[in-house]
Amino acid sequence: MKQANTGNERRYKVALPLPLRQTYDYLCKSAEPLPQGVRVRVPFGQRQLVGYVVTEANDEPPTFELKSVSSVLDEQRLWPDDIWQLVRWSSDYYHHSLGDVAANSLPVLLRKGDAPEYLTETFYALTDLGLAQSINDLKGAARQQQVLAALKHKPLRRSDLTDIGVTSAVLRTLQDKGWIEVREQAPAKPQSWQQKPSILREQGHELNTEQAVAVSTINQQQRHSTLLLEGVTGSGKTEVYLQAMQPVLERGEQVLVLVPEIGLTPQTLQRFKERFDAPVVMLHSGMSDRERLNTWLDAKHGHAAIIIGTRSAVFTPCQKLGLIVVDEEHDLSYKQQDGFRYHARDIAIKRAALLNIPLVLGSATASLETLNNAVSKRFHWLKLGQRAGGAQMVKHELIDLKQQPIKAGISKILQEQIQVEIERGNQVLLFLNRRGFAPALMCHECGWLAQCHRCDAYYTVHKTHQQLQCHHCGSQQRIPRQCGSCGSPQMISHGVGTEQLEHSLKEMFPGRGVLRIDRDSTRRKGQLDDYLQKATNNEYPLLVGTQMLAKGHHFPNVTLVALLDVDGALYSADFRAAERLGQLYTQVAGRAGREHKAGKVVLQTHHPEHDLIQDLLNNGYSHFALTALAERQQSELPPFSYLALFRAEATDRDSVVQAMTQIQQLMPQVDGAFLLGPMPALMERKAGRYRYQLLLHCQSRKLRFQLIEHLLPQINALPLLKKYAGRWISIRKTSAD
Ligand code: ADP
Ligand code: ZN
Ligand code: ZN
Repeated sequence: MKQANTGNERRYKVALPLPLRQTYDYLCKSAEPLPQGVRVRVPFGQRQLVGYVVTEANDEPPTFELKSVSSVLDEQRLWPDDIWQLVRWSSDYYHHSLGDVAANSLPVLLRKGDAPEYLTETFYALTDLGLAQSINDLKGAARQQQVLAALKHKPLRRSDLTDIGVTSAVLRTLQDKGWIEVREQAPAKPQSWQQKPSILREQGHELNTEQAVAVSTINQQQRHSTLLLEGVTGSGKTEVYLQAMQPVLERGEQVLVLVPEIGLTPQTLQRFKERFDAPVVMLHSGMSDRERLNTWLDAKHGHAAIIIGTRSAVFTPCQKLGLIVVDEEHDLSYKQQDGFRYHARDIAIKRAALLNIPLVLGSATASLETLNNAVSKRFHWLKLGQRAGGAQMVKHELIDLKQQPIKAGISKILQEQIQVEIERGNQVLLFLNRRGFAPALMCHECGWLAQCHRCDAYYTVHKTHQQLQCHHCGSQQRIPRQCGSCGSPQMISHGVGTEQLEHSLKEMFPGRGVLRIDRDSTRRKGQLDDYLQKATNNEYPLLVGTQMLAKGHHFPNVTLVALLDVDGALYSADFRAAERLGQLYTQVAGRAGREHKAGKVVLQTHHPEHDLIQDLLNNGYSHFALTALAERQQSELPPFSYLALFRAEATDRDSVVQAMTQIQQLMPQVDGAFLLGPMPALMERKAGRYRYQLLLHCQSRKLRFQLIEHLLPQINALPLLKKYAGRWISIRKTSAD
């Protein structure tokens, strides 16, 4: 670390990780001017912050006395040029503070000011006793056997073990036996892969025609282009990625693969590792800060060949990147929902453009934005129509709930179908997008509903903990014995959540195991992986889950999938609800019959005649999505118009409405743009705060950009908002456009 006290004193503009989009002036003595982007530690109020040098200042110095940089942390900036440009572009495009974008793009330890150097991590290793065990003697304990085999060659990180499906329980058992131990050590430098004579560990499948066309089209791209690879689940998209990656790796270039949160299964990772004799690294939220930093360094220095990661991995620097893949491009987890609100897919496209390399977007259910780009030929459109490897297409069935006896959300017909499947030894997967026991607690005498004191929302009943919980603000209380209005003791739960479904299934099918996978049941670290493994291994005939289960998991034994309640999406106020339903339905359908068994998807609804449902079932997602796109065009909704939502919230309603009205008055009269509101948010009060919004509607992206740039400084200068220093109001561009 250099002390900043020799050479000439210069003044710099420094970006700080604070909400306001401005730079701050600091003085620093140095022989040479500091390069753009280097980290400096600076005093700010009572705190020390890590900031990023934007430029040497040449404007009029301020009249107040400037502070000096406390220390200069880097000689050169941490990011290669493309990432630094990407950071700057994102700050402009999303109208977000440069310092905050820069911080978000770095691993936590670098954000805090640590040096970009490898650190020791926690590893699991075999003890002498463990080494002496004969692996074959462990036949009865397959998982222990798996760990011993994995550790035979070298110690592994906790996350490496998680990646291959090892649970904490197994590790604990082995530790108790004294066969494995925990060690603190630096990660071994991966051997260089660029000069290997062959990068392939094993040959891929022989491609079908559509796959072969896709691979060769991707590999023919000499410069930047975006390709949409559209194919139903199981149609062989991953195989296409793998084969398209091969020549890139053989040229010594790296590949970045983005996956949705919890979308990457141990099986998929295993496929990458088995195919290529080159280092594959992962970046995801389950890693320790040290692991993250080390992996980031591996990518930056070219030690890693394939970098697989979730949303924020889009900013991972690479020595030489040759291809980007965004798997399940429609997935909502690519969108950061608070703070720096960005869309990783859109940033990936920008990055590929900056590097002049191809990018592949893969999905069975492409987003309407992406589809529109494919229709208008901005993207190459590659289609895989068949399921690869002989798996059969899925059958569909509608159950009209109107004429049915229903128990805990399950109709009589469905109950019978479940019975048939589990008797055959197959698995059944039931989806219900509502966790908890019941979505409301009601008085049987007067109809009073228990409502959260801080939100415009009802409490959800959680029986396991004997609690009412608000799913919007997290507040909790004991389940009351009496009605809050008339005092009657006759309180009943209303509606069905996953907890109740699990309960009822156990009653309906006595002696059959039920596994529930939702946010409540998987809170403990490692539990989700454990459950997914159990589901895959056919340890439970009945699986109950929320949306969480819809993503790319591969359950070979599932033959029946049912969506219990989708009617909410048919009449939603959100114009994206139909698209989401189409995606959910299709993704869920992809969970049925993946291997050699035929699969069926059942949809329960009170509106079987609804156009959306009919289109989806009879014509498939592609057709459905193109119809939806045409409707968006008719009603001038995205991607045919460009929206931005200004939101404000405060504990006092009047000041929010007043602030919103003031913002509205700042809006200039322009052709091609208008502002709707102020109007209350869908849930007006949340966690004790009133929320209002204004919707900016523009004919072009450029106009939207200009208007926001015009409005923002004025908004931030409003006396009513000023004291909140940018924290009070948020702007979100509605989704990926
Ligand atoms: P997706 O990523 O679209 O879900 P995958 O690439 O995982 O599809 O392929 C589904 C299954 O089909 C996998 O088990 C894969 O090994 C197999 N597969 C893919 N392509 C072929 C092929 N050309 N021939 C035979 N099997 C294939
Ligand atoms: Zn009552
Ligand atoms: Zn609440």
